[in-house]
Amino acid sequence: MTAFNWQAFESAEPSPGHEALARIAQKYPSFCLITQNIDNLHEHPNALVPRAQYLPVHGRLGKFRCATASSAQNACPVTDFDVRLLATPESNHPGIETPLQLSAPPKCTMCNSFLLPEALLFDEDYDADVWERANRWLSESTSIVFVGSSNSVGLTQHATHLAKEKYIPLFNFNLSSAALEVPNALSPVFHVIGPAAVTLPSFATRLGIT
Ligand SMILES: [Zn+2]
Repeated sequence: MTAFNWQAFESAEPSPGHEALARIAQKYPSFCLITQNIDNLHEHPNALVPRAQYLPVHGRLGKFRCATASSAQNACPVTDFDVRLLATPESNHPGIETPLQLSAPPKCTMCNSFLLPEALLFDEDYDADVWERANRWLSESTSIVFVGSSNSVGLTQHATHLAKEKYIPLFNFNLSSAALEVPNALSPVFHVIGPAAVTLPSFATRLGIT
């Protein structure tokens, strides 16, 4: 197993946009953040969104769980396992940052089953509990805000559909309005165009949050 650019991932810092979202979440307990990102930056101390308001629907990079964890029977409680505990870093790819090198797929330290990445893989479906929680949050929303979304995955399209059905406003923070063209939209759609690192802090300031 090799993961390139591991050091870049490890040293990534939240942007002012992440920090603004954290301030908004901390001020408004009803604010819920669903993210497609797997970089864990909303868990960074400088941009911490309370766990009860945060749902990384596509999982989290660098974390592993026991393969039995998704089965109802004989489920092993090993989650958030840090695979680096098993790794031997070797710089055997000149010009590329030190890869994380494992000689064999990692195994659970409790039951010896394989460990699976917490991050969703291509063609994997959403976890049923995650989908149920995201759907409940969206169904209870009085407005939905997209930030930098391509609106090309099942959950964002579901959110757009719900907003139209409930006639609640949709806000699109993005570099262009193209990602959220909603044909025959019934709900109001507001585009806030620009880098999220600029527009989100400005939005927080407008809410009186500094
Ligand atoms: Zn296990």
